[in-house]
Amino acid sequence: MNAQDAWNVAYSQLELQLDRGSFDTWLRGALLLHTEPGIESTLFVIGVRNTYARDMLQHRLYRNVWRILHDVWGDPVEVRFEVHQPAPRNPEREVEMPLFRLLAEQQANAAIDDKQSDLGGSLSDRVRRPERQALPESDLNPKFTFARFIVSNANRLAYESARAVAENPGRYYNPFFVYGGVGQGKTHLLHAIAQACQSKGLRTIYLPSEAFTNDLVDAIRQKTTAMFREKYRSADVLLVDDVQFISGKESTQEEFFHTFNALYTFNKQIVLASDRPPRELATLEDRLRSRFEGGLVVDIPPLEFETRLAILEMWAQERGVRLQRSVLELVAERARSNVRELEGVFNQVIAKSQFAHQPMTLDNAEAVLQQYDAPRHHGSRRAPTTLNCVIEITARYYQMNPAELTGKNRAQRVNNVRQVAMYLAREYTESSLAQIGECLGGRSHTTVLHGCNKVVEMMGCDPVLRQQIEDLRQKLTN
Ligand code: ADP
Ligand code: MG
Repeated sequence: MNAQDAWNVAYSQLELQLDRGSFDTWLRGALLLHTEPGIESTLFVIGVRNTYARDMLQHRLYRNVWRILHDVWGDPVEVRFEVHQPAPRNPEREVEMPLFRLLAEQQANAAIDDKQSDLGGSLSDRVRRPERQALPESDLNPKFTFARFIVSNANRLAYESARAVAENPGRYYNPFFVYGGVGQGKTHLLHAIAQACQSKGLRTIYLPSEAFTNDLVDAIRQKTTAMFREKYRSADVLLVDDVQFISGKESTQEEFFHTFNALYTFNKQIVLASDRPPRELATLEDRLRSRFEGGLVVDIPPLEFETRLAILEMWAQERGVRLQRSVLELVAERARSNVRELEGVFNQVIAKSQFAHQPMTLDNAEAVLQQYDAPRHHGSRRAPTTLNCVIEITARYYQMNPAELTGKNRAQRVNNVRQVAMYLAREYTESSLAQIGECLGGRSHTTVLHGCNKVVEMMGCDPVLRQQIEDLRQKLTN
């Protein structure tokens, strides 16, 4: 594979793996300027659009880019980011490049508005201007629709509620707050709601919370806060993604609180997504927290094996690639923590087979997956926990003897706790299903799979169990 191909593959994988806001803000349009071969590694010099992006990529996102490029290239790499502006159409605007393309355009329009008003435009013209400005279509991923969302026991509640919100915005669940770990489909659901509402002709604003903050900062700097308010308060549906990032930012919270109230008062729909529930947003002001909790709060727990498999089948079909079921099962089995990881592994397998011009056999897939350093435990790099440790901690937590779990006792209560141990063993150990089953009373791998799915299913409807699993996770990571 040549360097340009490697960058192209890495770029598309980054687009899938980074959250959309980060990708659009820092990486979109980044191109390979050249490579410099070195003794130990090849240096990839990547052109990015401004100094903010360069610094952010160099300091905060370096590892993400490096790891993917390293995997694709197959040999050691280093990456350097340089500012590169290919013949800007309007150099003045590009010099002080705002953080988000959308905002750049809005600012430019605001500047034009200001000029027009100097020439006699009325204040109301200026204030109403954003209403005429539809958000660019490209801001919503056309693939993130309800039709492409695979529904399972784990995410059914989130899905059904999202559909209800899209059908009757502002009516039943307001605000609608969805939370869950990275890559569980929160952004997908928000885009699906936004697109359904847009197609009804409703004025819909979707944005990550950082974009809200940036927009506010710009509005304050440019003295266009009245326009800022009008823009957000005239929405029929406001969807704010990753709201955990407004935690701690006082002026943003203040502004958001007023926006929220203004919309809520007029029964306009508010949809929020976060990586944790409102009560765990530590530095969120209480009044905002209680507003967030006042509607419907649902979570998306990690998806079961069958659902991950169904998602893979959908992707393979959409891309017209034929993969043996055993290969898909292997990928679904290996990438457990979230769908984004699943996507990364899937792309890796496809990219390797396309570049090698070979169909992907189970052995080849295994080889690819071995190279893939799957980020387990939400990306932390601690040494894996042992099976015995999981069994010990789980048994003690439920005040049982570990021998009860490793023995043959089939009493309901023992069985339930054993299933919890199976679930946690899959998350925290490197053991295979067969090894887990063997250790937990000589069960088969399908029994383990069934046990894990049972736990996921129960977590979807049993908050007590969810809390217990959360407690156990804490114990296992400490
Ligand atoms: P989050 O916002 O929770 O981090 P995303 O919505 O960005 O996650 O999802 C990551 C990827 O996984 C996206 O490509 C999304 O389409 C896909 N995905 C997640 N859940 C599902 C699902 N249930 N069905 C189909 N695709 C899904
Ligand atoms: Mg997201």
